[in-house]
Amino acid sequence: MKDFIPVCEPCLTGNEKAYLQECIDTGWVSSEGPFVRRFERAVADWCGMPHAISVANGSVALDLACEALGIVPGDEVIMPSFTIISCAAAVVRLGGTPVLVDSDPVTWQMDASAVAKAITSRTKAIMVVHIYGHPADFDPIAQVAKSHGLAIIEDAAEVHGALYKDRPCGGLGDISCFSFYANKLVTTGEGGMVLCRDAALANRLKSLRNLCFLPDRRFIHEELGHNFRLTNLQAALGVAQLESLDKTVAFKRAVAHRYDAAFKGHPLLKTPVEEEWARNVYWVYGLVLDDRLPFDAFEWAEKLKERGVDTRPFFAPMHIQPVFRRMGMFANLSLPVSERLYARGLYLPNGMNLTGKQQETVIAAVLETLDA
Ligand SMILES: *Cc1c(COP(=O)(O)O)cnc(C)c1O
Repeated sequence: MKDFIPVCEPCLTGNEKAYLQECIDTGWVSSEGPFVRRFERAVADWCGMPHAISVANGSVALDLACEALGIVPGDEVIMPSFTIISCAAAVVRLGGTPVLVDSDPVTWQMDASAVAKAITSRTKAIMVVHIYGHPADFDPIAQVAKSHGLAIIEDAAEVHGALYKDRPCGGLGDISCFSFYANKLVTTGEGGMVLCRDAALANRLKSLRNLCFLPDRRFIHEELGHNFRLTNLQAALGVAQLESLDKTVAFKRAVAHRYDAAFKGHPLLKTPVEEEWARNVYWVYGLVLDDRLPFDAFEWAEKLKERGVDTRPFFAPMHIQPVFRRMGMFANLSLPVSERLYARGLYLPNGMNLTGKQQETVIAAVLETLDA
């Protein structure tokens, strides 16, 4: 096979090695270490949130956020169907019910106008997930939340550095979650963070993260917590990664602009948008196939693979997931936009090591598969 162009690769060429070496030299390898505090402070400052609680990954960040907000059996949380399973799983594990709304066909974000219609007397919170690097249209959703006294959980796992009306994503909601998985714009290998405004909520999150130890009676527990702690080694990577975030975003945007130049306006493709109120960080560069093409995204991915180009499919919406259907959830639900995105969307290589020449190969392969 030809040189395979990967979808994503991290870039660890800043201070990552030096900071990791410092952890090893000083012996600080667990969650008790100076980089953990430094990383939390840095993320909090960059989002304009007062409190940051680092955790083991983005999925448990969502678990912890929902638990700390007090989601209990019977509670409903409104969220997009077009997202990763971690969002719905966090609610379902607590006995709550995700109430799924469809996506906007242009921005691929949760349809803000559908949120108000999804509210019932059982609604406890709204989970706003920013998808693929572009912010969700937050203000209309915040207005609905305010008028009903609902909390907003922001899932900012895909939007490190993105802006909504000049405000940083991850700093918009009452509580926000990040992932630092290897394919995210800031990575610690595995890692996550929960941010919040309220000091009492922050203390609750810290307690739940660390087995609910009582501060004054260490091995006495009033409640069950978790060990969701992030290590100093991971945080060391995170501090270095944050130093490079501006460069990372500039690179992702430059790659996206070159793809845009090749694909925007093509009659058979829809490209990612950047609304005037948004700065898109292009976590991924997605394309959606026109319905006139005789193949779907999965067959398209095979054609691109034959040409040495790796791709990933779009999210499979939550309402078609066998695990939830088996639990009797979402039985007759149809959300056509998210179903269509799944059937016809995929994303292209845009990793930090992508060369200009590789990108030309990707562009040529995409155009060739559309002509054939
Ligand atoms: C990656 C991601 C997560 C989960 O993060 P992990 O660190 O992989 O557990 C949650 N939400 C969104 C939107 C994500 O993209």
